[in-house]
Amino acid sequence: MGLLGATNIVKFAVTTTAKIDIKSLQFHELEDKVREVGQPLYRARQIADWLYQKRLQSFDEMTDLPQGLRKRLAEQFDFSKIDIVRVLGSRDTTRKFLFQLSDFNLIESVLIPASPALYGSRSDRRTICISTQVGCAYGCKFCASGLEGFSRNLRPNEIVDQIIAVERENGEKIDNIVFMGMGEPLANFDNVMRAIRIINAPWGLAACDYYTSRKKQRLTFEYILIAGVNDSDEQARLLAGHAKRLSAKVNLIPYNTVHGLPWSRPSEDRQEKFLSILREPGISATLRREKGHDIDAACGQLRLQTKRELQTASS
Ligand code: SF4
Repeated sequence: MGLLGATNIVKFAVTTTAKIDIKSLQFHELEDKVREVGQPLYRARQIADWLYQKRLQSFDEMTDLPQGLRKRLAEQFDFSKIDIVRVLGSRDTTRKFLFQLSDFNLIESVLIPASPALYGSRSDRRTICISTQVGCAYGCKFCASGLEGFSRNLRPNEIVDQIIAVERENGEKIDNIVFMGMGEPLANFDNVMRAIRIINAPWGLAACDYYTSRKKQRLTFEYILIAGVNDSDEQARLLAGHAKRLSAKVNLIPYNTVHGLPWSRPSEDRQEKFLSILREPGISATLRREKGHDIDAACGQLRLQTKRELQTASS
């Protein structure tokens, strides 16, 4: 179900400002900035609170800062936000968000609530899958994200803003973040690392306690199962061997079919057989049940579909 229609998308790009966004700064950089303009250091914490606790969207609203400081900040920093232009909700409560950036590029995030019924626990974790690039240069043949090539890297604030916007829209805190949306995170390493530091900072999101408590967790292989490509018994035994050697867990993800591409997800029987071969030697393996398949939740699909709709409408 779309909350906002695709017609909300502005189609013409304008030049972007060269100013750095305030949400791209780490805390020590905020401290440097307030020191530089002759303000006491506690101003940095006030600013961080406005940004990440109260989550305001303009310097004007930071009412406990002196007017002069607010003006200086507005002169030196951008305060961009990303707009939600489309939301799709799946029957299994997965929600997909299409965002428009300040330069009118489109990116996607997916909110995946853990379902107690599917995982056999009382967990109510909410995982967000976020994008790190506009498009993708790698062009993996099974993936919708690379179909239109690579446009640009996301800036740290644009990575952080996906989480803030989804929490605001959904009204609930995120527990888990995975960088498995549009783009290859390692190809945008510096901005992704900066965003992770901002997200994990003690002054950042409340989720940091959760991440800290999980630092010693084991390596997990996320394995996308594609029918006839990597779902054979032999490949399952090969994967089991690697997982055993590294004491890793395996999470099997049945492929989300992409319109226009020839690959498909294996049958449920094949998925189960693959899982059972992994478990034979004692590997801790799970099979991700279908999440958001009815809303094309795989990364890049909603963006592609929306761009095609806009092209059709304007032709
Ligand atoms: S987003 Fe990931 S899977 Fe898709 S084309 Fe890029 S690297 Fe490949």
